[in-house]
Amino acid sequence: MSEKAVTAPGQHPHEPHENLGQRLNWLRAGVLGANDGIVSTAGVVIGVAGATPGNVLAIATAGLAALVAGAFSMAGGEYVSVSTQRDTERAMIAKEKRELAEMPEEELRELAGLYEQRGLSPELAQQVAEELTAHDALAAHAEVELGIDPDEYTSPWVAAVSSFVAFSVGALIPLAVILLPVGESRVWVAAVAVLIGLLLTGWISAVLGKAPRGPAILRNIVMGGATMIATYAIGLLFGVAVS
Ligand SMILES: [Zn+2]
Repeated sequence: MSEKAVTAPGQHPHEPHENLGQRLNWLRAGVLGANDGIVSTAGVVIGVAGATPGNVLAIATAGLAALVAGAFSMAGGEYVSVSTQRDTERAMIAKEKRELAEMPEEELRELAGLYEQRGLSPELAQQVAEELTAHDALAAHAEVELGIDPDEYTSPWVAAVSSFVAFSVGALIPLAVILLPVGESRVWVAAVAVLIGLLLTGWISAVLGKAPRGPAILRNIVMGGATMIATYAIGLLFGVAVS
């Protein structure tokens, strides 16, 4: 999950040191990816099933295509956005490094000023800035000024693979359930499974985000339900037109 640019003395190079907040962010991103997979794949398979309820091969093909297309699109988007963010962070760190080498006095004053803004007294801010500058000036500036941990770049590949997996896991729920041998009632069985899945993802993201659970679950279920109603209606219209 991280590439080590620098290893602090006394720190093991492979020791994980992400904080809990970061881990929760990853978990939340995973749940959101799964939610996307559930909703978009449900929309596709239920739409096709609305048009040709008996054609299991068409439903399976469309569902699998939706899974693969969605997973690649999510992974690609994630790869591009994390790469860009990492390039930006690297450029900011490089600039900070240059400034620290060229004008250490100004940088020390700047750091002390930032600690003062955060509520420390001028004397204490000065002392903290001096000690942190002696310890690791770049890390102190990166954290306070830029909000970056220079040891903790996110890997775009890890981000891409995680979203690919998260989306696929979600997409498998409607795809697998609509292919169960339940005959004509497959649309309803799939819709119920999807709503249960959305209840779970809504509940987990509310818990992770410390938000009220009821409204989060309700919103999630209403959006997913609206998606399925819309694509099912399209399927019915086209099914009637074709037959
Ligand atoms: Zn600085």
